[in-house]
Amino acid sequence: MPSIKYDVVIAGAGIVGLAHAWMCAKQGLRVAVLEKNSRCTGASVRNFGFITITGQREGKTWRRALRSKEFWADVAPKAGIPICHQGLLVVAQRLEALDLLDTFKHTEMGEACVLLSADAIRGRFPEIRGEDVQGGLYSPHELRVESKDAIGQLTTWLSKEMGVEFFFDHELLEINLPKLRTASKVFHTERLILCPGTELNGVAQPYLAEYQLTHTQLQMLRIQPTQPLLLQAAVMSDLSLVRYAGYTGLNCHQALLARLKKEELPCLEAGIHLIVVQSEDGSLVVGDSHHPVGDVEPFAQDAVDALIIEQLRRTLKLDDYQITHRWTGKYPVGHADQDALILSPDPNIRVVSVISGTGASTAFGLAEEVMQQWGF
Ligand SMILES: Cc1cc2nc3c(=O)[nH]c(=O)nc-3n(C[C@H](O)[C@H](O)[C@H](O)COP(=O)(O)OP(=O)(O)OC[C@H]3O[C@@H](n4cnc5c(N)ncnc54)[C@H](O)[C@@H]3O)c2cc1C
Repeated sequence: MPSIKYDVVIAGAGIVGLAHAWMCAKQGLRVAVLEKNSRCTGASVRNFGFITITGQREGKTWRRALRSKEFWADVAPKAGIPICHQGLLVVAQRLEALDLLDTFKHTEMGEACVLLSADAIRGRFPEIRGEDVQGGLYSPHELRVESKDAIGQLTTWLSKEMGVEFFFDHELLEINLPKLRTASKVFHTERLILCPGTELNGVAQPYLAEYQLTHTQLQMLRIQPTQPLLLQAAVMSDLSLVRYAGYTGLNCHQALLARLKKEELPCLEAGIHLIVVQSEDGSLVVGDSHHPVGDVEPFAQDAVDALIIEQLRRTLKLDDYQITHRWTGKYPVGHADQDALILSPDPNIRVVSVISGTGASTAFGLAEEVMQQWGF
């Protein structure tokens, strides 16, 4: 078998693997990325492309997201990735939601965010359906990229401009540093970074087994409004405030949760909360629901899509529209209070697994931490 020598080999060409590839290549290291499939088709291309800061769990995850946003802002223009829009508007449709946002605004995480009255939202955001609005919070931090394209664009740029070598259709099967083996090649490398995403039973299994990870499955939609509708920022609403750890961690969401249990039980049961982002062609990426894998059919459920669309139409002034795409995605989940794992089973091996729906927002921050651990 031909043998090739690298400073670092990364397994997995999702956003976590690519973020590590960039950090290593910036240090002048010779980097190879092995990807099991002919391209990344996992969570990294199925998500909203929404680099979320406001709402991330207080502490590590929030700081990683803030840091990652800086890296995204740096790398996106270099790699020719358009930033589709910036900022986040959380629309409060109940007074309990507005109270929660008010508490959030007065934490460290609320810095630079602005509380808005109902009139201010109606005046500044004409795309929002004004009837139910009690007020809201605008965060300037967020970025949005078109992840279905951005992952390919980042891969091409890393390959052409940063000298990263990609080996697609190469699943890492065996680790015996300095040797790594796929079905057809042997790689020699000083270091290995495993970024396996949802592949819990492959070569990463011995490292991840003790965390007893499972999967969450999500439903997503792309919707084309019939009449032009301009979203000025990503939009979320009340249901997000009882889901995102940055809000629930404040422990003042119980009043809102109690009301939502009375008024939105089917959404809560399907793990639905609203995120809407817009693409350059005007279409909206809308989601999402959360189902423990194992409890659901492997097929998307129309009833769940209908609930998501109901939330959407209650929030945006959207009358006629066409659903152009429906898809599912999944990510690994583990301990409720941990969003990511950086494991060091050997001084020269790192296993990086995002075990929550936060990898698009935190991958670059995680990669920076791994490089710091290795003294770069
Ligand atoms: C529908 C949906 C919406 C989401 N929305 C958001 C959001 O708004 N904001 C946010 O921050 N996050 C979001 N997420 C989460 C985010 O997408 C993930 O956390 C992130 O993409 C994980 O990246 P990854 O590189 O670890 O995994 P993946 O994208 O799954 O990539 C892992 C890759 O590793 C490859 N691989 C695995 N094992 C091997 C091996 N042995 N050898 C070679 N290759 C291997 C796989 O083939 C795969 O291509 C969402 C996720 C989903 C599914």
